[in-house]
Amino acid sequence: TAKGAGKSQISRFELPMNASIQRRVTLERDLRHALNDRQLQMYYQPQLELRRAALCGFEALIRWQKDGKWISPLEFIGVAEETGLIKELDQYVIDSVFAQVAQWLAAGYDPGEVAINISAFSVQEPGFVELIRAARDKHAIPPERIKLEVTEGLLMKNYDVARQVMLDLKQTGFKWSIDDFGTGYSALSYLRRYPFDQLKIDKSFIDDVHINLENASMTRAIIGMARSLGITVIAEGVETIEQLNVLLQAGCEQIQGYYYSPPLPVASCVQLLQQDATLALPQIVVNRDLR
Ligand code: C2E
Ligand code: MG
Ligand code: MG
Ligand code: MG
Repeated sequence: TAKGAGKSQISRFELPMNASIQRRVTLERDLRHALNDRQLQMYYQPQLELRRAALCGFEALIRWQKDGKWISPLEFIGVAEETGLIKELDQYVIDSVFAQVAQWLAAGYDPGEVAINISAFSVQEPGFVELIRAARDKHAIPPERIKLEVTEGLLMKNYDVARQVMLDLKQTGFKWSIDDFGTGYSALSYLRRYPFDQLKIDKSFIDDVHINLENASMTRAIIGMARSLGITVIAEGVETIEQLNVLLQAGCEQIQGYYYSPPLPVASCVQLLQQDATLALPQIVVNRDLR
């Protein structure tokens, strides 16, 4: 170990390594405080249903401003997972989002379905099902409004536990979405073994879907397969009209990305929900009659 090497032998790598460890230790401490003080905020990224050209939901994304600087979730979620803080973080997110959805519904808005990112660690934690059900009771929200978003990592690790948790919450009425699809093992057979309602095609496929034929045909194959399993498909990270066109042709049902909207603070979501209530709702009614 570095300690055993003795203080006189300073390795060339010691300094940068210590700096990065130091940053993590500080981050962990500050994250703990931020969670306790409820300083973390949720932003919500709107999701667009292509057939109706209307808002159909949001993805809740956590935001942390520390000493006036935004810290990327990619960084602090990683630290939280390594230190076990992720359990509290996920609980915090679940509570905040359920409260928000309940408030929107009480105000008469239609937020569609709201997706929550849940770490694979939390899903496998004993008591997760009870925790989610308790949050549902506390906030009295219809579980159909909530989509629990997990990555493939969950499916790889603990097949039986994960599957049972998914089935139990599905029975309660919650929905499941598989995030970042296509980045991991993505064995199509996995999809059949779990009760997913939605599949989210990863941004890395979408980035060049309009110029890379392989990614375009991969995207079409994923959409076709999902459809045959009765799973809806959403594409993440859609930024341009060129990407959108390919997705429309491929029969993709929903998109999320800067092309439609970045993640928004709650006040901006409410503005959008107010527009939706006045503009898009009559359209929904028309389509319902046509079906
Ligand atoms: P993710 O779940 O795959 O979320 C999508 C990420 O892409 C988000 O980054 C979002 O802001 C970003 N994004 C959305 N549209 C676009 C686009 O058109 N272009 C580009 N370049 N980026 C786009 P974010 O918010 O930084 O989150 C990063 C990751 O951190 C998430 O990936 C998710 O894995 C994790 N995360 C975020 N919020 C939470 C949370 O509340 N709980 C947990 N457990 N994890 C979270
Ligand atoms: Mg996600
Ligand atoms: Mg994603
Ligand atoms: Mg992603």
